[in-house]
Amino acid sequence: MMQEPAESVVHGSGFGAGEQAAGKAHPRDLPATDRLLREAAVQQLLADHGHTLVAAEARRLLDDCRQQVLAGQLDLAQAALPALAAQLQARVQQVLRPRMQAVLNLTGTVIHTNLGRSLLAEPALQHMLAMMSGPNNLEYDLGSGGRGDRDSMIEELLCQITGAEAATVVNNNAAAVLLTLAAMARGREVIVSRGELVEIGGAFRMPDVMESAGARLVEVGTTNRTHPQDYERAISGNTALLMKVHTSNYQVQGFTRSVSEAEMAQIAHRHGLPMATDLGSGSLVDLAQYGLPREPLPQEMLVAGCDVVTFSGDKLLGGPQAGLIVGSKEAVGRIRKFPMKRALRMSKLPLAALEATLRLYLQPEHLTRDLPTLRMLTRPVAEIRGLAARLQPLLIEAVAPRFGVEIVELQGQIGSGSLPVDRLPSAGLAMAPLEKKGAGRALDALASALRQLPLPVIGRIADDRLLLDLRCLEQEAAFVSQLPALQEQLA
Ligand SMILES: *Cc1c(COP(=O)(O)O)cnc(C)c1O
Repeated sequence: MMQEPAESVVHGSGFGAGEQAAGKAHPRDLPATDRLLREAAVQQLLADHGHTLVAAEARRLLDDCRQQVLAGQLDLAQAALPALAAQLQARVQQVLRPRMQAVLNLTGTVIHTNLGRSLLAEPALQHMLAMMSGPNNLEYDLGSGGRGDRDSMIEELLCQITGAEAATVVNNNAAAVLLTLAAMARGREVIVSRGELVEIGGAFRMPDVMESAGARLVEVGTTNRTHPQDYERAISGNTALLMKVHTSNYQVQGFTRSVSEAEMAQIAHRHGLPMATDLGSGSLVDLAQYGLPREPLPQEMLVAGCDVVTFSGDKLLGGPQAGLIVGSKEAVGRIRKFPMKRALRMSKLPLAALEATLRLYLQPEHLTRDLPTLRMLTRPVAEIRGLAARLQPLLIEAVAPRFGVEIVELQGQIGSGSLPVDRLPSAGLAMAPLEKKGAGRALDALASALRQLPLPVIGRIADDRLLLDLRCLEQEAAFVSQLPALQEQLA
């Protein structure tokens, strides 16, 4: 039970006799916590959510009200039991609301790291739900009845798809790179081209990862040009590994020279050394067949002679967060046995999703239908334009009279560091304030209103317009059903 504030506090805060503003609450108008909890409406809250949460929120509410009273800011009606019960209910709902929320990604960036990267395919969702609802054979061999290996199901699929001798998986590609370097080159030297010492974002810088792995970085070449002799000359008795990093998030153009994986593998093998490639996005199918910009495939890296190839699960592959490692039996075996692997291993949750996603690759003809990332990347612009035409009149109604809405051609991108230079022709809707005065503020208000919707809509602001790229809008009905709420928010 909370103490009522002492009279001295009340007097000290400007509530002397006769000083109370008309209609404002006095500290003694506030009920004790117990009294509020006995209120009929609150009894229902207690039944639904239990005493711990409801009582804690009731105390917080009354504390806040007391502060407002002392500041002379609480109306008498707000201090009444029915009003407090309603506020308490709102608070309980607010504290119980999900923090992670579904949103509509209309930014034009298909694989958006801030918005969760790749969306899982329906079979992956189903498999995850089925496997997480009960026990499964995660580390149990159903044939022998003995202990199994959690990576074995993934390994079999990855080897079939990529032609690799061996494969293993970890938490993400950053972990795959770290583990590869630690297992293959701890206390020794790794030779990398200066043009490939990239920062991937989120404080993942190649030189730092190298240091974390306990390997010594030997930089060769220059930012724009690296030659085979640069690697040859850098090899010493301390060299453990030659490494190539796919510079996925930028491009060096003009007077450039880099050494191909095949050339590097030859140099490495001639000196009895292994060669590793960090591919980053690592699409498992040739994107050129869909008219998209080409990304190197892990399959090709293996054919070129790489002993280890690492790539992400939630970029172009279209699966859950994961770091995939494929390569030779010898190299992958060393990586798998390295103790750090235990700390970086995948949980059963994404493993189930990854396994189901990889199974989709056994039927590559259906990928653009079944895999959301590829489905959205290959969505025909004509279809996106059609969607824009259907939505335009509805959106005009929702944002009138302050904003106009036009159908526009847009340039999107794949995202997540993949193919940064190439643009993805798309279409969408551009909203612009009709009044030039205060246009910037009006746009911010519109963007904010879109973000406050039950299913928040994330667009982008460019050239004084709010752009909604519709390439990734597959929930047309959900978008339309929110337009009345948007209209209300703008009113
Ligand atoms: C994205 C990327 C990484 C990091 O992969 P995560 O799965 O996000 O950990 C590492 N290297 C390259 C080249 C990348 O593009």
